[in-house]
Amino acid sequence: MTQQVAPLSSVSPEPYISVIIPVFNEEENLRELGERLMRTLKTIGRPFEIILVDDGSTDRSWDLLAELHDQYPENLRALQFNRNFGQHQAIFAGFQAARGQVMITLDADLQNPPEEIPRLVAKLEEGYDTVGGWREDRRDSLFRRLPSHLVNVVMSKVTGTRLRDYGCMLRAYRREVIDSINQCHESSSFIPALANLYSRRVAEIPVGHAERERGQSKYGLIKLLRLNFDLMTGFSNFPIHVVGFTGVAIAFLGLFFGAFLLLRRLLVGPEVEGIFTLFAILFIFVGLNTLGLALIGEYVGRIYREVRGRPRYVIRQTLGPDPVQKC
Ligand code: UDP
Ligand code: MG
Repeated sequence: MTQQVAPLSSVSPEPYISVIIPVFNEEENLRELGERLMRTLKTIGRPFEIILVDDGSTDRSWDLLAELHDQYPENLRALQFNRNFGQHQAIFAGFQAARGQVMITLDADLQNPPEEIPRLVAKLEEGYDTVGGWREDRRDSLFRRLPSHLVNVVMSKVTGTRLRDYGCMLRAYRREVIDSINQCHESSSFIPALANLYSRRVAEIPVGHAERERGQSKYGLIKLLRLNFDLMTGFSNFPIHVVGFTGVAIAFLGLFFGAFLLLRRLLVGPEVEGIFTLFAILFIFVGLNTLGLALIGEYVGRIYREVRGRPRYVIRQTLGPDPVQKC
């Protein structure tokens, strides 16, 4: 493992704000991101650090991060994973390395305007543990917004914290919340929901949202489904309950149907046709059974993954002070 550790004297001693950003093939956005962040964070007037975590990029992102680190050695640190481990794992690594009292997360693609950070910090300082951004005018396709809506409704119910926008990564957390998160070692997780479990007071403020102007979204249909499914299964047994309740409802329907056929037999005589209807009903049952089994399998698979306890990520190199290398 190669490590380039900057001399400690060049690093501001106690940052108050740590900004943590996952980066995966964002070469076109990094320069502007660095500039806008530096400009905005300076206006707050408190010591700060920016931690960029390169999640195994295959483009020039790491070179650009090294350039940014040379440009702002006192404020900007970078970590590089040895391959792609996922956005949330990158943020976990950033949390482990961060030293601030206030932690901010945001995306690297400039969809979350860095200029909103002072408002998030100000709100947190009113006494909240977590302040989430809520994308008032979300610039994403309907295909992205619809599942998000469902997730927000379900997650609000299961975690007991009503949030309008679980998916917005522009958020601020107090150190104490992150200390608790740092003790969680689950291999697939969703940070905004996890943070809610350890926050007493949660606020949400509207924030701007821009279209992705450069680079591509890293979430295709499958990755998006997996993320949303992780979120649902990682924080509740809600999907299993849904299948369970559907099973009970169908059993009752079957009971009524049986009673109806009995009555009909007594009044009209035995039915002769209807074999195809029976097939249709059978298919529904078989489908539901398979769904139920698959769901249980999914949970079992997740348990297996957790039990193996493999490292969640591997840090290849770092620029700036050495982070705590726990994973
Ligand atoms: N990202 C990451 N690892 C991944 C996928 C994404 O670090 O495997 C980062 C990406 O560089 C960006 C953020 O996570 O900073 C959000 O990704 P993206 O903009 O592609 O998601 P979308 O806005 O389309 O939901
Ligand atoms: Mg994006």
